[in-house]
Amino acid sequence: MKPDGLKRFVLPVWIIVLSGILTACAGMQRREEAYSKSFFAMDTYMTFTVYDEDAKRAQSALRQAQEEIGRLEALWSVTDADSDIYAVNHGGGRPVAVQEETAQTILFALEMAQNTEGALEPTLYPVLTAWGFTTEENRIPSTEQINKLLGQVGYDRVLVAGKQITLEEGMMFDLGAVGKGCAGDRVVQVMEERGITSALLDIGGNVQAVGSKPDGSDWRLGLRSPFGEGIFGTLLISDLAVVTSGNYERYFIGEDGVRYGHIINPATGYPVNNGLASVTVIAKEGKLCDALSTSLFVMGLEDAVAYWKEHREEQEFDVILVTEDRKIYLTQEIKDRFDLQKDCRDMEMHVLDAGKPD
Ligand code: AMP
Ligand code: MG
Repeated sequence: MKPDGLKRFVLPVWIIVLSGILTACAGMQRREEAYSKSFFAMDTYMTFTVYDEDAKRAQSALRQAQEEIGRLEALWSVTDADSDIYAVNHGGGRPVAVQEETAQTILFALEMAQNTEGALEPTLYPVLTAWGFTTEENRIPSTEQINKLLGQVGYDRVLVAGKQITLEEGMMFDLGAVGKGCAGDRVVQVMEERGITSALLDIGGNVQAVGSKPDGSDWRLGLRSPFGEGIFGTLLISDLAVVTSGNYERYFIGEDGVRYGHIINPATGYPVNNGLASVTVIAKEGKLCDALSTSLFVMGLEDAVAYWKEHREEQEFDVILVTEDRKIYLTQEIKDRFDLQKDCRDMEMHVLDAGKPD
């Protein structure tokens, strides 16, 4: 069986939720209980935790949330022959009608590709396949092969007319870099529609918070260190999404001894190797965080900071950029909510200045 674009990665949990136990205790005083559901979907582990006084309401919200994830996975799978994305990818150059929300998600991915000048490239799938990142059989493709496949890549060649999507033959669309964020936003909506005011969604390490802890205080999230040593800090947030991308969690060591990661620079067709170790994006919507964490990671420190300066007011997001040489670059808003772990005190912190020219 071919792997699925959305289903292909088993991501370790990047962001460890520290506040659960504390909140559960606080919740008991106020009679909110914690209800959790963990399951495997979109090739990752998800844990949704709802804090509510009404067991029935909490459990029904959790059930509906899981169903929603299943529904979106079936719509956006790259390999499931019944999915919208599969239909688009096998349209033989002809327009293919998709569901409204698939069209909207494709449009969002294309818009973010344009905003990031192609750092986010939702048609990169042929190149990802050549590296074996879609099959787990990793290999180093030849430069000729990469260059040839890059000819089948180009977000600006995807045609969208309402719900009709047209791809040139040989091109492949893939929501792997934004799908989990979009799905998270839908689950937040499901929770809100059900009257849930306090919940924490862990979607393969992406965290999306519905409201705050039952006692009204912020959730405290642990941010997983890209250097494989637990967490490097904690972050206090309410009602926000926190999404991290990095190349150390999923990579292979080539025969040449080089480490090749799963996030690829669409300009070269090679895995990103630009000195960044991880990028965390914090914003209201998971989809923006997901799109930006991947693309800022591709851009590298300097361009990522420039992108933040240019777009921070219109897109309203904050960042935590960690470099291979253990420096942390973060926005002032986040610094006020961030605590560095004791054992990571050697990591240099730099607050990004929104006004300072590059
Ligand atoms: P994320 O974990 O959200 O950063 O997404 C990374 C996944 O998106 C990878 O595992 C690839 O499947 C895919 N991908 C890799 N590089 C890119 C890129 N430059 N643009 C879009 N998707 C990418
Ligand atoms: Mg992403």
